[in-house]
Amino acid sequence: MGLKPKPQVLFGRKEIEAAVSRLAAEIRGDYHDKHPVLIGVLKGAFVFLADLVRQLDFPLEVEFIRLSSYGKGKESSGKVKVVQGLGSNVKGRHVLIIEDIVDSGLTTTFLIDYLGKKKPVSIRVCALTSKPSRQKLPVTIGYLGFTVPDKFIVGYGLDSGEEFRNLPNICFIGGDE
Ligand code: 5GP
Ligand code: MG
Repeated sequence: MGLKPKPQVLFGRKEIEAAVSRLAAEIRGDYHDKHPVLIGVLKGAFVFLADLVRQLDFPLEVEFIRLSSYGKGKESSGKVKVVQGLGSNVKGRHVLIIEDIVDSGLTTTFLIDYLGKKKPVSIRVCALTSKPSRQKLPVTIGYLGFTVPDKFIVGYGLDSGEEFRNLPNICFIGGDE
């Protein structure tokens, strides 16, 4: 048992609530009459998605997909796999991908390509956070909560080795503590 990293708060409850409300208003404006399918990327997006959908007061569907891109470390392996696929067809639907974080952009790029082959009418990305300093592939994020620095983010659904998903704040570990 080594010393455990102590998460430092980057964005607290109030800021998160404000960001989720802002995103919900933007999404409502664009999708209220489109009956979209929101696809949450497991596991990291589960808290964000749960908060977001409760602010969307129009017909929509929720699906989940589970991808793996990271091995055991914190660096992307570059190879993305679908670990758990969609439960329904998105052909002819408006798809909104709900991501926890866009880091290198590899995962999101893979997912847009993967879902695109299923012939939806449209695909956009809604991401809780983005780390532009680390981006390797250009990803257009239609709805973005926060831009984050080049630190490892945990909390509000995001983990480090399956720990910290239950923290209510968006935090970082390592670096400046
Ligand atoms: P990508 O590098 O492909 O954009 O990011 C792949 C995945 O790595 C993200 O969806 C997320 O699950 C994970 N990831 C990337 N950066 C971070 C981070 O700072 N914190 C956590 N917890 N996961 C991250
Ligand atoms: Mg993810």
